[in-house]
Amino acid sequence: MNVARIVMKAAIALLFLLVGSNAPYLSLSQSESVPTQVELCGVKLRPKVVEIVDQIEHYYKEPVQCELANLDDKGEAGYADATHGIPKIYVDTFTGRQELTIAHELLHIWLGIHGFATNPHVSFDKPNEIDGTRFRSALNIIYSDLQHRLIMIKLRAMGFDPDARFLRLCIEMMKSKPVFDRTPELLAFDIDRVDMNYKRVASEMRKWATAGGYGKQVELADRLEQIESQDNPTTTDAAVTTTRKCVNLIFFSTKRYFTHP
Ligand SMILES: [Zn+2]
Repeated sequence: MNVARIVMKAAIALLFLLVGSNAPYLSLSQSESVPTQVELCGVKLRPKVVEIVDQIEHYYKEPVQCELANLDDKGEAGYADATHGIPKIYVDTFTGRQELTIAHELLHIWLGIHGFATNPHVSFDKPNEIDGTRFRSALNIIYSDLQHRLIMIKLRAMGFDPDARFLRLCIEMMKSKPVFDRTPELLAFDIDRVDMNYKRVASEMRKWATAGGYGKQVELADRLEQIESQDNPTTTDAAVTTTRKCVNLIFFSTKRYFTHP
């Protein structure tokens, strides 16, 4: 943490103290050092996000970098990378310049310093009859969901509404009939994700999927959610174990759920 940041933090803390205690406004006008707002990629950050920035910078002994990039093609608003010892987030030039996106990406790095790696190496013996891409994709989705589960909890605690976008996507998806014939586990993942983070629409999605002929996937989603909430992993190792259990359930004991395309 550099000196400027310490001063800034102290100034922000003072401001909050004054606002929080209903101190007369006069006190503020005496201050010549009005706190400089902390920004990343030109976006102002609230104190709870600045705290995360501080913790990351303290850990890496490097300032957090933010770069604008064109990520829209990949359908992403941002991503984080600290693999080279420099904490860096990238946000989309058009869709990513929002405090929520920046906080989200920062939390990926923050989780990393708290023992939850973003991209761990997960080895798994894949039987030949299972399609490699589909298998790898399932591993990644489950691990990522477990990670985002923690990110969502933290974002809500910071005063964000991280559910809004996903809820909109679910509602949009439910306007047409479910079609998941090639990768039926994807529907189970979506329902499971709703269950984990967005209880508000979970029962609606279950009804929609069941009516569309995907009752077995709803059942699979329930079992995945059961494993995930029972394990409730907060470290990489624990999350890898949970991921393995889920993958086992999907690919090795699900012949009664669906056959391969
Ligand atoms: Zn993320």
